Amino acid sequence: MALPVLSLSQTHLTLLETCPRRFQYIFDQALAVPPSPQGQEAALWGNQFHLLMQQQALGLPIAVMAPAHGEMVAKVEALRQQAPQLFQAEPGECLRQSEHQRTLAFNGYVFTVIYDLIVLTENSGLIVDWKTYLKPPAKARLADDWQTRLYLYVLAETSQLPPEKLTMVYWFVRHRDAQGKDLPPSDYRFIYSLSQHDRTRADLLRLTDRLSELRECQVFPQTDILERCTRCPFQIRCQRADEPNLLINLDAIEEVALH
Ligand code: SF4
Repeated sequence: MALPVLSLSQTHLTLLETCPRRFQYIFDQALAVPPSPQGQEAALWGNQFHLLMQQQALGLPIAVMAPAHGEMVAKVEALRQQAPQLFQAEPGECLRQSEHQRTLAFNGYVFTVIYDLIVLTENSGLIVDWKTYLKPPAKARLADDWQTRLYLYVLAETSQLPPEKLTMVYWFVRHRDAQGKDLPPSDYRFIYSLSQHDRTRADLLRLTDRLSELRECQVFPQTDILERCTRCPFQIRCQRADEPNLLINLDAIEEVALH
């Protein structure tokens, strides 16, 4: 019997690559991961910031829309000072849109991406993502992150633009220094290429083929890399809590976004 078509996001790909068993717990068995209070606060701040950026893109006055969020409005204004091009259309643009969704059928699955902001011209494509972490990850880590790879891949496949004309930019709007002092917004910029596109296609084929096999046999193996279990909320269910060298570290439990 044919497997039902699944919609996959970058979160699915990351979990599948990190630990198929964890993928199964979250997406197949729909087990919830309770966020920590800090994780909850961060997620709420991030969601509200995204909403605010969407509202300003629609021309709504954000100070009126979010009077209780003075800090957030100040962050938006700091970003406007630093990168005014994000806030105003330039001549030659064919498309500028917030919360822009694209889908791509691929190897029996559908990839779904939602760009915080997309700006297309005849010769260029720009994907912008707002990040509200207090401490940005290393740039090399984000370059390899499935969000970067999938977002660029889907745009290359769903537009007329060649990969080398595409760029993805992450803007960090809330980060702080080691003393907890606010820093001005800053960005990481990733320019795409044909060789990256080919590598991503090969990795996506490998991962989706693997997922189809796992779904057929309904056996999702545990990761071999025990260190990953120390940051996993399913250690006890998974009987990995008693492994030697494993420490249960509840503070280190990662938040997993469900898309
Ligand atoms: S405890 Fe380890 S093996 Fe089990 S789901 Fe978590 S990461 Fe995977």
